[in-house]
Amino acid sequence: MSRPQPRVLVVGGGITGLAAARALALARVGARVVLAEAAPRLGGKISTERTDGLLLEHGPDSILATRPAGAALVRELGLGEELTGTLDPRAVYIRHRGRLVPMPEGLGLVLPTRFWPFARTSLFSWPEKVRMAKDVVWPRLLPADDIAVGTFLRRRLGSAIVDRLAGPLVGGVYGTPIDELSLDAVVPQLRKAETEHRSLLRAGLADGAAMRAAAAKRPPGARSMGVFVSLRGGMGSLVDALARSLSDCGVDVRLGAPVASLRRAPSGVLARLGSADAAADADAPDEVFDAVILAVPAPSAAALVAPEVPAAATALREIPHGTSILVTLAYPRAAVAARLVGHGYLVPPSAGGAISACTWTSEKWPGRAPADTVLLRMFVRDEGTWTQLPDDELAEHARRDAETTLRIAPGAAPDLVRVARWEGAMPRYTVGHLARVAAVEQALTAWPSVTVAGASYRGVGVPDCIAQGQAAASRVAELLSAREAPAELVPAV
Ligand SMILES: Cc1cc2nc3c(=O)[nH]c(=O)nc-3n(C[C@H](O)[C@H](O)[C@H](O)COP(=O)(O)OP(=O)(O)OC[C@H]3O[C@@H](n4cnc5c(N)ncnc54)[C@H](O)[C@@H]3O)c2cc1C
Repeated sequence: MSRPQPRVLVVGGGITGLAAARALALARVGARVVLAEAAPRLGGKISTERTDGLLLEHGPDSILATRPAGAALVRELGLGEELTGTLDPRAVYIRHRGRLVPMPEGLGLVLPTRFWPFARTSLFSWPEKVRMAKDVVWPRLLPADDIAVGTFLRRRLGSAIVDRLAGPLVGGVYGTPIDELSLDAVVPQLRKAETEHRSLLRAGLADGAAMRAAAAKRPPGARSMGVFVSLRGGMGSLVDALARSLSDCGVDVRLGAPVASLRRAPSGVLARLGSADAAADADAPDEVFDAVILAVPAPSAAALVAPEVPAAATALREIPHGTSILVTLAYPRAAVAARLVGHGYLVPPSAGGAISACTWTSEKWPGRAPADTVLLRMFVRDEGTWTQLPDDELAEHARRDAETTLRIAPGAAPDLVRVARWEGAMPRYTVGHLARVAAVEQALTAWPSVTVAGASYRGVGVPDCIAQGQAAASRVAELLSAREAPAELVPAV
């Protein structure tokens, strides 16, 4: 008797779930893949809106080119020609004492890769620069255990670089204060830098020399797209291409289908899937799956595994999540007095205020707004009570911040205002994050049919989520193959 076709449920249609479902469908393990997404659309935090000649990203707007899984998937989907780099000049500013000061050129993740721009910057006083330079003579300071990025950098380089550069830059990306952010989860390269070079400044300069040598080897005229890339049609075109690919692979995609519960079944997992028709759901039978990939934020995963593996639910709940809010504003270019040369500005936490960063989208990416429009993407600080304010108040804070910083004509109203809220769904990689993820994975060994993947665990960036989705698909493919193997030894009856 041949075995029935295995069925796999992917819960969550964000980038992680989409990548997982596609990888599994292509894995040639003969599995029937069902992807269940609670919302009426795919993409999760990837959310692109096109309106009045504007292209708005309410979630991610870029892919880190140094993480190969992102651009590789884009190319596999036939969208290679759609990849676009950022516009020149790629300057970013720090608002310091009310002025926009350019970040020193040649800044790596947080370390200078060139000496002179850092020595000359007006972002730091001479005593602050001398304090930083002491790093060259300090011995190695890192403990064996995880430590906050801020704590480590303060010890080595002093507080000025943390408060004015690393905090707004790295803390901002992760929506977590830098003095709480896990070094091992977020910037493990700093541990490697100290181990190999002892001094972080020396490590940064050595990196810079290596990068310049690699750039010199490029054929003349070949220009790197830069560290961040996107798609001409916006990140939504990646989701659209994935949706088409899933349909071609025969994946059963169900929208408006929240997974309400998972239970152990003798031959796998019993899942209760909702649908747009709540009345019909009451009578719908639970469905049986051989394996489940939970590509949802950890709090949602916790609720689903709690009845069967309470220890995994407890471990999942230990991963803190914050809120990310983005205000998008479009102004007539004629109303903006400041000359926008670069990609935007960061506001250090010490400066206070609701806004932590502002991207000048129209100046950063080609084709996002008509020439007569300035498009701004303003991030609300996830500290204190800012994220609890209603949309209209947050829009007002964003307007005031932009209008003062960019000298926008008093009384000039924006042509467009949008507020995108991602409540309680942004993972915070605080100190000890990797140990918490290991605890989740360990607890889930008690239920091998269920695996987790996504931004809550091993990287929040889109490429990291893609890689995690694909890795989860490989784990499930292995599980199915292992279950299949003994059956081949049994003679068919
Ligand atoms: C404002 C903002 C800007 C960002 N900018 C960037 C950037 O420029 N570059 C970058 O690389 N990253 C960026 N990120 C991070 C990145 O977008 C996210 O980490 C990533 O998209 C998360 O993908 P995911 O699939 O893991 O989760 P999600 O996108 O959260 O998807 C999870 C999905 O699961 C669904 N779901 C939840 N529970 C259930 C259930 N019970 N049943 C069925 N479905 C369920 C949800 O509806 C959701 O669609 C940004 C994030 C935000 C919020």
